[in-house]
Amino acid sequence: MVVFILIDGLRPDAIAPAACPNLKALMARGAVTLQAQSVMPSITLPCHTSIFHSVPPTRHGITSNLWAPLARPLPGLFEVAKIAGKHCASIYNWEELRDIGRPGSLALSLFCNTSYQEDGDDSVAAEAVRVLPQGGYDFAFVYFGTVDTIGHFYGWMSEKYMAQIARVDSALGRLLAALPADTAIVLQSDHGGHERNHGSDAPEDMTIPWLAAGPGIRAGYTLTEPVSLLDTAPTLARLLGFAPHYEWEGRCVEEIFAETPAST
Ligand SMILES: [Zn+2]
Repeated sequence: MVVFILIDGLRPDAIAPAACPNLKALMARGAVTLQAQSVMPSITLPCHTSIFHSVPPTRHGITSNLWAPLARPLPGLFEVAKIAGKHCASIYNWEELRDIGRPGSLALSLFCNTSYQEDGDDSVAAEAVRVLPQGGYDFAFVYFGTVDTIGHFYGWMSEKYMAQIARVDSALGRLLAALPADTAIVLQSDHGGHERNHGSDAPEDMTIPWLAAGPGIRAGYTLTEPVSLLDTAPTLARLLGFAPHYEWEGRCVEEIFAETPAST
């Protein structure tokens, strides 16, 4: 199984000072960059549409948190995975994300209306722990929305923001502990934030953490090549064993993979 975890609004420079042992342990067994790049506008729905369709907002046309039919429709990760015969699940707590895949592409879509409450990601983790280990899914998207919410309430890098990262890290730990040991994980944020907002092209908004961990993936490795959130869908496609759609503009982050010994 491949699990894609998104922690909304997590700034990479918050990780070191935060009490997030589960995230740090995952980083230690994975290939990581703390300098991946979001897209403009650095807003949640445009970013997620770009993550799942591997094209920038100038191509897909979603420029705010109000969904509209894509300017020039193209298949996203869920649609291409469905065609490849994959059983996909999405577990999330911000309802606008219902539109990042088209109807019919998911085997399970599970929305908890909890992203505006401090314990909201505990619900997401509990549902993921309940359904994923035995569900026969090939791919799952697990979305934690509360770090962003707390950022908007109290400010990015504020005491409350750092405490929320610790809270979500506990939820992350429960999820990771429940998944099979050979699960491949990709984890990232969609954008950062500054003061009580995001959406600009400032480095605080645009710089995001991005990591992969699991079988065949380098452990304790810092990625040296640039990573964009457009690269997530092609990388997940590779991990799931199907080709990226030809209209996707990102590339698989090849650098995550351990070099296989040359055959003799
Ligand atoms: Zn967001």
